[in-house]
Amino acid sequence: MAAKVNVAEKLGVNKFNTDEKNSHIDVDKGYADKKEVDRVLRACPAAIYTLDDNGTLFFDYLGCLECGTCKVLSEGKLVKSWNYPVGTKGIEYRLG
Ligand code: SF4
Repeated sequence: MAAKVNVAEKLGVNKFNTDEKNSHIDVDKGYADKKEVDRVLRACPAAIYTLDDNGTLFFDYLGCLECGTCKVLSEGKLVKSWNYPVGTKGIEYRLG
C-alpha cells in the first residue's frame, strides 16, 4: 500500500521556475467591486491575492499554481489578462 501524502506535503515538493520579469497574470489592483475581489481572494488555492488592513489588494504571481480559477471567475474584471507562463517557466508539479 502506498504511503499517504497530504496536500501540504504535495505542494511543498513542487518546483517553481519563476519568470522574474513577466507576470503571466495582470490584475487590476484598483478594481472597485469589493465583492468580486473577495470572491477571487477566497478562491485562490495559493492565497496570493491578499488584502492589508486598509483593504488594499496585493497580488504577487510568484507561487501561482496555474489552476486558472481566478481566470474563470474574473477574467475581464479583476483579472485583466491571464496566460500560462512562457516556455519552461512556472510551476513543475512533482506529485500531481
Ligand atoms: S491561477 Fe490559481 S493559483 Fe494562480 S493566482 Fe489564479 S487562482 Fe491563484
